[in-house]
Amino acid sequence: MTDQYAVIGNPVEHSLSPQIHDQFARATGQDLTYGRILAPLEGFRDAVLAFRAAGGKGLNVTLPFKHEAWRVAGVRSGFALAAGAVNTLSFEGGSIEGHNTDGIGLVRDLMQNLRAGIRGKRVLLMGAGGASYGVMEPLLREQPESVVVANRTLEKAVELVGYFEKLQSCAPQGFSARAYGALAGTQFDILINATSAGLEGAMPPLPEGIFAPGALAYDMVYARRTPFLDFARARGARIADGLGMLVEQAAESFFIWRGVRPETAPVIRALTQKAEE
Ligand code: NAP
Repeated sequence: MTDQYAVIGNPVEHSLSPQIHDQFARATGQDLTYGRILAPLEGFRDAVLAFRAAGGKGLNVTLPFKHEAWRVAGVRSGFALAAGAVNTLSFEGGSIEGHNTDGIGLVRDLMQNLRAGIRGKRVLLMGAGGASYGVMEPLLREQPESVVVANRTLEKAVELVGYFEKLQSCAPQGFSARAYGALAGTQFDILINATSAGLEGAMPPLPEGIFAPGALAYDMVYARRTPFLDFARARGARIADGLGMLVEQAAESFFIWRGVRPETAPVIRALTQKAEE
C-alpha cells in the first residue's frame, strides 16, 4: 500500500508542503501520497490519532498546533525537546515521534543556499514566538559572535533568552533580549525576521543604521513582498525570504520519514519561478 503523509494545520489550504513533498517523492522514486488535513482548533489530537489509525505514516504540523504536537508526541528528538514545539510527527513503530526541523531548515538555507556563514557573526532575531524557539538551538550551535532577540512584547524575548541560556552550553557572550527601541547604534550581520508582521504588511520598528556592510536580511515569511525586506533592500542589504527554509525543513522531515535525502535546489528553483509568474 502507498504510504500516506500530510500537513495538518488550521488554516492549511495555503500550505506549499504537498507540492514540495510530491516533488521530493518523484525525484527520489519514493511511493507515497501527501495531503492536507484541516484540523478543528479543538480537535488536533483526535485528527492525528485518526490519521494514524487509518495507516498514515507521518505528519507535518503547522500553525497553530506546533506546541500541541509536542504534547501529543510520546518521544521527542533533541531539537524538539529544547524548542517545546514539534513540526514533524512520525508513526513508525509503536510510538509517536516528534521532531522539530525548522532550525535545521533555517541554518541550511543560510549556510548552504545563501552562503552566509553564521560563525562569528552578529545576529539579530526578531520575534519570540514558536518559530524563534524552533530555530534557537541550531542557530546557537553555529557559534555566532552574538545573538540579540528583539520582540514587541519584551518580556517574551527575556523569557526566551533565559530559557535557552539554561539549556545551552554554547550560548554566546552577547546572547541577550532587547526592545526594538534599544537597538539604535548597534549593527548586525544577519537580521532574521521571525515575526508574523509581514503577513499583515507590517514590520518591526527598526532604527536606521542597523545593517552592517554586507548584511543579510532574512524574512521567514515567504511567497510575498514584506515591508522588512523592502526596508532592507532600500538600505543596501542582501535579502532572502523563508522559501528556502520551508523547503529545507521539509527535506529534513522527508529524511526522517523515508531515510532518503532529497535534493532541495531544484524544488526551491521551481517554487521561486512559480511565485514570480
Ligand atoms: P507566533 O508564535 O504567532 O509569533 C509571532 C511573533 O511575531 C511574536 O513574537 C509577535 O510579537 C510578533 N509580531 C506579530 N506581529 C507583529 C508586528 N506587527 N510587529 C512586531 N512583531 C510582531 O508565530 P511563529 O510560529 O513564531 O511564526 C512566525 C512567522 O514565521 C510566521 O509568519 C510563520 O509563517 C513564519 N515561519 C516560517 C517558516 C518557514 O519555513 N519559512 C517556519 C516557521 C515559521 P508579540 O510577542 O509581541 O506578539
